[in-house]
Amino acid sequence: MTGNTEKREIIIIGGGIIGCTSAYFLTRHPSYDPSKHKITLLEASKIAGGASGKAGGLLALWAYPSNIVPLSYKLHAELAADHGGESRWGYRRIHCGQLSAKGRVLDQEKAQEGKPSNGESVSLGKRDKAALGKLTVAGLPKDLDWVAAESAKSYYEMGTPDNTAQVHPYQFTTSMAELAEEKGAKIILGFVSNIERSGGAVKSVTYQDKETSVTHTIPATDVIISAGPWTRSVYPPAPISAMRAHSVTIKSKTAISAYALFTEISLPPNFGRTDTFVKSKRLHSKEVTPEIYARPGDEVYACGEGDTLVPLPKTTADVETDQSRCQDIIGYVSSISDELRDGEVTARQACYLPNVQAASGGPLIGETGVKGLLIAAGHTCWGIQNGPGTGKLISEFVFDGKAKSANIGSLDPRRIL
Ligand SMILES: Cc1cc2nc3c(=O)[nH]c(=O)nc-3n(C[C@H](O)[C@H](O)[C@H](O)COP(=O)(O)OP(=O)(O)OC[C@H]3O[C@@H](n4cnc5c(N)ncnc54)[C@H](O)[C@@H]3O)c2cc1C
Repeated sequence: MTGNTEKREIIIIGGGIIGCTSAYFLTRHPSYDPSKHKITLLEASKIAGGASGKAGGLLALWAYPSNIVPLSYKLHAELAADHGGESRWGYRRIHCGQLSAKGRVLDQEKAQEGKPSNGESVSLGKRDKAALGKLTVAGLPKDLDWVAAESAKSYYEMGTPDNTAQVHPYQFTTSMAELAEEKGAKIILGFVSNIERSGGAVKSVTYQDKETSVTHTIPATDVIISAGPWTRSVYPPAPISAMRAHSVTIKSKTAISAYALFTEISLPPNFGRTDTFVKSKRLHSKEVTPEIYARPGDEVYACGEGDTLVPLPKTTADVETDQSRCQDIIGYVSSISDELRDGEVTARQACYLPNVQAASGGPLIGETGVKGLLIAAGHTCWGIQNGPGTGKLISEFVFDGKAKSANIGSLDPRRIL
């Protein structure tokens, strides 16, 4: 570690949640002195342009890995209290459950819009006596009234407002970036092409400015690689891969209670098909598992399963969205909810999840063996939950020389690099 009284040139690569929370906590560390410590965040295309802006935003004390979850969950609550997170980034406590349901048939025309058919099975009013009886049989909480009663088969509670919460990931990440800037961090839109070293230590970082296309090399005493699924492109030894996932957001016309649902929906064989088609083919029923998260303002986020069909493109701006995959998600969630069927689709998007290719899993947080070069990447499906904890730990590595707030030996990148 370089002494805190000396000048430091701290460079963060990547403006997702990990890079932005790192910038935030570096500017809040007791040793941070803006007259001596320069913090620069380099982001290739847009702050929170990748998974950090397109994730669900679920936070849970029952997430993993257990050595950083409690720290990060607590920091989320503190950040929300300190900076008005409830209104600024939609922080709130929620219920969470596993829902098993039977999807209702979509006819061809309605399926185009992601809407179930007008058949008898769809139009059952969920407020009538029979419907309420079904809700009780399935164990569905009374206020989870935006799941169609005739669809629900079973519901098991996974989390309560005591141990489960949420944020709007895009709003949270961009707020972290703004709050870091307010305390002196500098954000530059530029694509990092190289990290130069000298005598076993980092020396400088080379990037191409997004606006001017001019290439610059800037001095560095500390470099934090937080490029999510792109980590390998700036640091090839990191065993981090990428998986694409699609999601949609739907604005409901009616109130949506605060539940995050992990679903198992069995779709009938004729789901989304015409009668003629069904008669002419042998079709099988299908199980789908979208995650559905209610958000403040009666908006609902839903994501589907991942795919590896399209390799990771150069930047977040080049990510391909497959409209048919978004349409599938809309169809699935519409098949179990009239509110979602009748809502307005406000986003259809895709992004890449960062996975660690090692038996020990991820994320990787800490030193690399090269002096001044730190990694904070590979947060898989819990990067929003574990963002603040990671940022805090990175600030400790930089200014204290070691992680102090959590015991994270098992996440040490040097174990697998
Ligand atoms: C569909 C989906 C739902 C999810 N839901 C949740 C959830 O509910 N809760 C939860 O906790 N987590 C969730 N996650 C996981 C979470 O989104 C990720 O773990 C997290 O966003 C990763 O953040 P990151 O900062 O590491 O990466 P990213 O958000 O990918 O950010 C990396 C950044 O680095 C930049 N970059 C890359 N290369 C360069 C370069 N050469 N130079 C400069 N910049 C570069 C990129 O442009 C990008 O902005 C979800 C993920 C997906 C895909």
